[in-house]
Amino acid sequence: MERIEKAPAKINLSLDALFRHSDDGRHEWEMVMTSVDLADYVHLKLTAAPAIEVRTDSGFLPEDQRNLAYQAARTLQKKFNIAGGVQIAITKHIPVAAGLGGGSADAAAVLRGLNQLWHLDLSLAELAEIGLTIDSDVPYCVYSRTALVTGKGDQIRPLGELPPFWVVLAKPRISVSTPSVLNHLSYRDLNQHPDTRAVIAGIKAHSFDQMCAGMGNVLEEVTARRYPEITHLKRQMLKFGADAAQMSGSGPTVFGLCRKYSRAQHICNSLHGFCKEVYLVQPCELNKKAS
Ligand code: ATP
Repeated sequence: MERIEKAPAKINLSLDALFRHSDDGRHEWEMVMTSVDLADYVHLKLTAAPAIEVRTDSGFLPEDQRNLAYQAARTLQKKFNIAGGVQIAITKHIPVAAGLGGGSADAAAVLRGLNQLWHLDLSLAELAEIGLTIDSDVPYCVYSRTALVTGKGDQIRPLGELPPFWVVLAKPRISVSTPSVLNHLSYRDLNQHPDTRAVIAGIKAHSFDQMCAGMGNVLEEVTARRYPEITHLKRQMLKFGADAAQMSGSGPTVFGLCRKYSRAQHICNSLHGFCKEVYLVQPCELNKKAS
């Protein structure tokens, strides 16, 4: 029995950190997240033997228990006493350590796929709860549809349909470690918070302008302090005509939003000269009907 799951990248339309939990040091988040049609593909093939095997075409990602896809399969196998194993083959398209949640997307795809193949009959909310033990972005990626994400990443409230727009993703030639950015996050020094309520109101009213007006990412100033090319890239995006631009997650990928396709294409063409990894995509939503 086998199955292929799509694992789309996520971007943060807003990313706010409210406080740090004293019990485990994790952050209390308030974020609006959506998914885009730049996706990994996760091929799952059940085996009678209990081993979990992971292969990727990336050439440098770990293929053992350090891979988040492995951890997702192992967590389900253990929790539900599954006798068999699974071969996982991941075709990577999402840049790694880019702020686009690639590893979490792969782990969530494994949870969704094995839920079907092992007939576990778990809801998305139950899969999301299991996903939180793997990484804080996995619960959102289980849903992979526009949502308000709060708590430690575990409270997912799907929002309505987005107004139409195009997304240009540009990844500078640096990789950013999320734990190191979070270690440098100092609540006292944060200058600007996004207006997450405005982003949500914009989505509800189907108003692109209102949605953009509330956008922001508190991690941007933390990462940009170490990597000034992020601020430069954001300025370029806006100069070439993006209606809004900001860093995704802990970076370094910067995304620009455009109402018009021709503008987005112009930005892509203009950025190609000094940024090798540039993608023109649209929001994409999985699981629209599932709960
Ligand atoms: P985060 O979701 O933590 O903000 P990110 O989106 O910036 O991370 P990822 O592409 O998920 O970045 O990679 C983060 C780390 O996870 C890398 O160090 C990578 O080695 C590890 N990792 C484990 N499994 C995977 C996977 N299947 N795909 C990508 N990275 C993985």
